[in-house]
Amino acid sequence: MPPASAARIILRRLHDVMAARTGAQAKLNQVVRIVAAELNSEVASIYLLRDGLLELYATFGLAQTAVHVTKLSMGQGLVGTIAATREPLALAEARAHPDFAYRPETGEEAFHSFCGVPIVRREAAIGVLAVQHRDPRAYDEVEIEALQTVAMVLSELIHGAALVDDAQAARLRAANSGAIRLNGLKLVDGLARGTAVFHQPRVVVEHTVADDVDAERVRLVDAFRRMRDQIDSMMGQADFVAGTDHHEILETYKMFAYDEGWARRINEAIETGLTAEAAVERVQSRNRLRLRSIDDPYLKERLSDLDDLSNRLLRILSGQLGTAAQMGLKADAILIARNLGPAELLEYDKRFLKAVVLEEGSLTAHVIIVARAMGVPVLGRVDQLFGQVNDGDELIVDAGNGALLVRPTAATIKSYQAMRALKVRQAEEWAKVRDLPAISKDGRHISLFMNAGLVDDAATMALAGADGIGLFRTEFQFLVSATLPRRERQQALYKAVLDAAGDKPVVFRTVDIGGDKAVPYLSAEGEEDENPAMGWRALRLALGRSGLMKVQARALLEAAAGRTLSVMFPMISEPWEFAEARSLVEAQKERLLATGRPVPTEILYGAMIEVPALIEQLDLLLPMTDFVSVGTNDLTQFLFAADRANPRLADRYDWLSPAILRVMRRIVCAAAGHDVPVTVCGEMGGRPLEALALIALGVERLSITPAGIGPIKAMIRSATLEPLGEALLGWLAEPGANIRAELSSAAKRQGLVL
Ligand code: PEP
Ligand code: MG
Repeated sequence: MPPASAARIILRRLHDVMAARTGAQAKLNQVVRIVAAELNSEVASIYLLRDGLLELYATFGLAQTAVHVTKLSMGQGLVGTIAATREPLALAEARAHPDFAYRPETGEEAFHSFCGVPIVRREAAIGVLAVQHRDPRAYDEVEIEALQTVAMVLSELIHGAALVDDAQAARLRAANSGAIRLNGLKLVDGLARGTAVFHQPRVVVEHTVADDVDAERVRLVDAFRRMRDQIDSMMGQADFVAGTDHHEILETYKMFAYDEGWARRINEAIETGLTAEAAVERVQSRNRLRLRSIDDPYLKERLSDLDDLSNRLLRILSGQLGTAAQMGLKADAILIARNLGPAELLEYDKRFLKAVVLEEGSLTAHVIIVARAMGVPVLGRVDQLFGQVNDGDELIVDAGNGALLVRPTAATIKSYQAMRALKVRQAEEWAKVRDLPAISKDGRHISLFMNAGLVDDAATMALAGADGIGLFRTEFQFLVSATLPRRERQQALYKAVLDAAGDKPVVFRTVDIGGDKAVPYLSAEGEEDENPAMGWRALRLALGRSGLMKVQARALLEAAAGRTLSVMFPMISEPWEFAEARSLVEAQKERLLATGRPVPTEILYGAMIEVPALIEQLDLLLPMTDFVSVGTNDLTQFLFAADRANPRLADRYDWLSPAILRVMRRIVCAAAGHDVPVTVCGEMGGRPLEALALIALGVERLSITPAGIGPIKAMIRSATLEPLGEALLGWLAEPGANIRAELSSAAKRQGLVL
């Protein structure tokens, strides 16, 4: 029999076996007989994982007395090696292989050649299917393919009959794949341990043998069409602007999506009798195997794109379209994704989400700010993430050290526990200074506010030791909502925050939507920005759609009735924008007054300084404002013309560069001249050395992530600021000074807690 048709005939016969009402053992016995007959082999055997060992479950050709008697551990003998490596093995002379382990009870001495493939479920080997021949002979690819196809069907049969327990297989897989360390970039500091959960879950193929090959072919054509449509429409979206990383990935996707060779190979697998899903999976696992033996990083990446695309195709075919958030997290989860949007992250249950690991990501992207607000550590820019981590793997994320520890060993877990204990002790140290004021050794008092945006944030204020909320990002509520939040809902949130804050001040920032914080219900057809960070966002959008701004103003005024309302406007480029926004709020206040409704006792208006043009007009702006707040995230992106969400630029420019520090100094001096308080509310202020520089330059108010308050307070209380300020001005005047290095050694000399 020509081997190409062997797979087809075997599958047809297996279809009948699967449909029969016999027990699992009887089915396995039939399978080995079919395989031996169709592949003309003298022996066919199935080994399955039981109690951590690979046990001979069924055989044709070996001694029947060895069934349930012969057992091999993972990695032991040829069968154990196949299971441990999850790779096929084809040998003309089995005995010549260094891992060969002779089992006399099987009577296998009569057979020379051997070919085995792993039986895999959820990327774990749960068994091995092997054939043996009396004569020394080579096995060709078609025979190995046929065995792999049978192994897929066996995986379904074994799972259906509950012959191998999934959890045990996952544990063993972890033990055998070995511990590795992947490096990444710290995006949100923290330490966490949990299980890998893919944001876009891998589909597990449940039905492998087709009832109707023609129908499967039609399903595949349809799925390809939908996948191509999806990719074409993604390419058209503004987020995927030409020349960016996203765009490059999509170009590759497109190339594969239209690649006839790939579609043909899947079709050939369907021809043998597999369902469309099983055929995609078959071709995909062949690619994965190839991926492992490739060294070229470029090719490796392209093949992993293909892997991603196969997964997309599987998701379309199986109808399993939801993200892990929609399926619900269970216990401690570490989320794995290429990249995420802020709204996608907010969909996850904070209680179970322990950390996020991204293949991309940059420090000031909004998703990272959201993660920081949620108190979730994030490690970004992890290379080879998808190739090395499996769903369900145990992981330790050590963001501070830029490390992802995959399938950690007992020793690693121990050192993680020690690190954790250290962090707890450190937190206890910070807790001691929590209620003390942030006063430097030379007597300068710094106010430390926290950034917030989620409902439960206000409750953490006392815990964090913050003096209030210096930036409440109201757009978070818009991001988590499928439709525009109504006024009542907005008002309820603002009131809850003010109530929780008690006497402490809260600064509400009006919606900063647009840029990387797009919401679907506000981006009308044909209005997409080519360059969203500099586009129709924040106050520009709010003033353009004044209905939106009026509703928010009403909600804020009503929520703060009888107390002080502090409100600030984002992304102001010219003073008139501030004036217009302020008069819009004032007009709403007048309307409330006219109808006899209560209003705030006082309204303080602030401007965010995040567009360089505004800095050239501070003399015109400052007299109109009650306070200003510097958004260093946006200000940095605009000063350096470096997209804050672009991972390639993530660590290119230093916050301690003269450009930023000189601008900060200018703002501080100008504001002091007009007696207007300045807060810095970008991520820069939450990092001890950067905060030290800001304070030394005269900044007296920082609004930072709650987790940063303890460390920053401890740093301030140990610092003598005056000499550092003088030194900084000197370095700023000196060409080529390495301010980071200088400041860091000066801080060390002072014995600063950094
Ligand atoms: C900033 O730009 O620094 C800022 C605080 O605002 P956001 O990060 O929300 O844009
Ligand atoms: Mg901003």
